[in-house]
Amino acid sequence: MRAGAEAVTLARLRHVYKVYRVADTGVVALAGVDLDLARGEFLAVVGPSGSGKSTLLNLLGGLDRPTAGVVEVDGRDLARLAPRELAAYRRERVGFVWQGTARNLVPYLTVRDNVALAAVARGVVVAARRGSVDELLDLVGLRDRARHRPAQLSGGEQQRAAVAVALANAPDLLLADEPTAELDSASAARVLDVLRAANRDLGTTVVMVTHDLTAAARADRTIRLRDGRLVAEPLPLGAVSPDGRIRLPDQALAAIGDGELEAEVRGNEVRIRPRDPGIPGGHARHRWTGGAGGR
Ligand code: ADP
Repeated sequence: MRAGAEAVTLARLRHVYKVYRVADTGVVALAGVDLDLARGEFLAVVGPSGSGKSTLLNLLGGLDRPTAGVVEVDGRDLARLAPRELAAYRRERVGFVWQGTARNLVPYLTVRDNVALAAVARGVVVAARRGSVDELLDLVGLRDRARHRPAQLSGGEQQRAAVAVALANAPDLLLADEPTAELDSASAARVLDVLRAANRDLGTTVVMVTHDLTAAARADRTIRLRDGRLVAEPLPLGAVSPDGRIRLPDQALAAIGDGELEAEVRGNEVRIRPRDPGIPGGHARHRWTGGAGGR
């Protein structure tokens, strides 16, 4: 996120489940995901294959609806939009970059015409809002390839062209699914530069699904999915001072609140949490609530 930018929530997911029906069984792709996406943030989503990353992207992009839970963008629950409103949301608010060229670019059009077509198809006067087609080509470093057709471009150039196409409707939200897959590291770095530039210069919120931890490191924040659930990411801390003090990150302070804390030591792992005032020296989840051996 840009320095000093206020953290205003663009998208909010609450208890989001997605279950695909396959024959008689259900495949759980997302199993209760809670996520806040700040406007202007560059978020990376990592996790093994099949962990629900693309499903999350599809829900954010209004391409699919959750089985349960809420996906809200700008305070609007996407599931409550009429089909026409949802189509308008996809057309006007979201840009997609898919893995592979075929889904991103029209093969018989030049790069410039691909970008111009995307702008026209989405009913956007590009020049009026965020620069002309040429400025988008400059942003992605392809002005000198404007007259090339996709097949005349390298894989990395094709992905950068795809980013220009995705930005042609001046979207609030750019969704990129494995944009650096199958690229060499230099080409991948340039695609990431372009996503960064879109985020920084145009203020576009970016959500990027990736397998590549080097790519994820370019984002402001990384979330990890496993089996359709978010895995908590540890927050980096400084060293402990000689008298045992440690500075907790703001995010941890906000989560912990004001009261007394307690630390639980498990092997080489230390967990810090608010102390339950009801139990001297204990935490609520340690309270015995009955059952065998409880008396
Ligand atoms: P990822 O992007 O992390 O590889 P996906 O979101 O594509 O994961 O898939 C999550 C799970 O949901 C996987 O088990 C996948 O097989 C299943 N899945 C995804 N899309 C469908 C679909 N359209 N129909 C049935 N199952 C699906």
